[in-house]
Amino acid sequence: MRIAIYPGSFDPITLGHLDVIKRSAKIADLLIIGVLNNNAKRALFTADERVELIQRVIRDIPNVQVEAFAGLTIDYARERGASLLVRGLRAVTDFEYELQIAQTNHKLAPEIDTVFFTTSVQYSYLSSSIVKEIASFGGDIRQLLPECIVQTVYDKYIGGSMDGSK
Ligand code: ADP
Repeated sequence: MRIAIYPGSFDPITLGHLDVIKRSAKIADLLIIGVLNNNAKRALFTADERVELIQRVIRDIPNVQVEAFAGLTIDYARERGASLLVRGLRAVTDFEYELQIAQTNHKLAPEIDTVFFTTSVQYSYLSSSIVKEIASFGGDIRQLLPECIVQTVYDKYIGGSMDGSK
């Protein structure tokens, strides 16, 4: 069974992430979305909240699961018996960082390969940070996120501080 892991922060999941999820699910028997629980990185949503948001979004995709993880991605991938790591590339700016991580991971775990999905053009500008920036000013994020999570993202700002630190 070919298991792939798609690791990331997903704070929150966007239509760009979803596009990569749908496409990468086709090359694996099981795709596990690994939500990185990284205390050093200030996130708008807790790891559990991010998992719950993703659960709503992937409900109808049969071979995709989501869970939180901490620590090194390759350790997690080995634990899950994965042979592939999935990452997305939006622009040249992503490339240098992603290349460095992929090469380091391959050095540490030669049995695991990273595969890259280039973004669909309509999502090439899209990132979780942009979504948060727009939502914090009450702007329209409906075309950037899966519909079922839009209200939850707005609510986060209405209920809390406006700088994403809640
Ligand atoms: P990180 O894992 O760096 O904290 P994210 O959780 O935002 O970042 O993204 C996880 C992965 O999804 C990364 O490989 C990132 O390049 C990719 N990604 C994010 N947004 C898009 C998009 N709009 N199109 C394609 N790939 C994307």
